[in-house]
Amino acid sequence: MRIYMPTRIPALLTATACLMMTLSAPAQVWASAQPTADQAPAVQCMKPGTQWPASWYEPFPAHQIIGPLYAVGGVDLSVFLITSDQGHILINTALADSTAFIKNNVEALGFNFSDIRVILTTQAHFDHTAAMQEIKTLTGAQVWATPADAQVLEDGGASDAHFGNCIEFRFAPVTVERILTDGEILHIGGQRIQVHFHPGHTAGSASYSLKVTEGDETYDVLIANMGTINPGKKMLHKPTYPGVAEDFAQTFHRQKNLAVDVWVAAHASQYQRDQKYSAGQPYAPGTFVDPEGFKQEVERLEKIYLQQLKTERDEMKP
Ligand SMILES: [Zn+2]
Repeated sequence: MRIYMPTRIPALLTATACLMMTLSAPAQVWASAQPTADQAPAVQCMKPGTQWPASWYEPFPAHQIIGPLYAVGGVDLSVFLITSDQGHILINTALADSTAFIKNNVEALGFNFSDIRVILTTQAHFDHTAAMQEIKTLTGAQVWATPADAQVLEDGGASDAHFGNCIEFRFAPVTVERILTDGEILHIGGQRIQVHFHPGHTAGSASYSLKVTEGDETYDVLIANMGTINPGKKMLHKPTYPGVAEDFAQTFHRQKNLAVDVWVAAHASQYQRDQKYSAGQPYAPGTFVDPEGFKQEVERLEKIYLQQLKTERDEMKP
């Protein structure tokens, strides 16, 4: 099984080499915009007995979104599969114990779990990455990630600028084979998937787009990382990481300028899956077509961001 990247085979090698260099010389390569790992031991941040939402644990029946893009995740935590005749790409996992239901979902669609060749993430937070190491081991897949999320993946969440100190947000560290660049096209089988850096939610958040032709129509499809702001995040005064406010602003700007017909996101609630699809519904390419919904959601999140900037500015006034 080959993963070929016509213009990027040398890049695969150099990216891997570059990553190894990076690990031995973090200051030079990760640059000042990246959060630095806090060396303090992780502490408990949540009240004892705090539970994650039940919807984060429950599987949801696998289904085709459009063309080669399938949903293989849970009731709320999205996991996506992009299939090709040369192996598949998995985007995100769910919590640490989600491997079994993701595998079941992939197989329920008639695909082999062991044909997953590449694992990507839209954001290196534990609720999307905690099963990654296990799935990588079971499938032999490579993990490809943006520079900032790669660092967080490799230290199991310790260098996350916002949650790094919290034991509850840590996950099994996973080795990253390849560092992604903004705008590059990933080739696997006949699929061409473009990488979009959409930082803010995490410093390395990313979205992925592909064109899908069904019948006479070609659709612009986006697996989006939305610019949501976790509680306690700071933009201006002691920012959660340097440049976080600019990152969010850029992400909203770029997302509003993307051509999007079909979109999905890291949480099913974010793309209103349940208003578009119910389990068992027959496949139709138009099911998830929602260009207006995407635009409105980006604008809604941008308003929340602008309100937070205003609140922080007001708090900083003497
Ligand atoms: Zn998150």
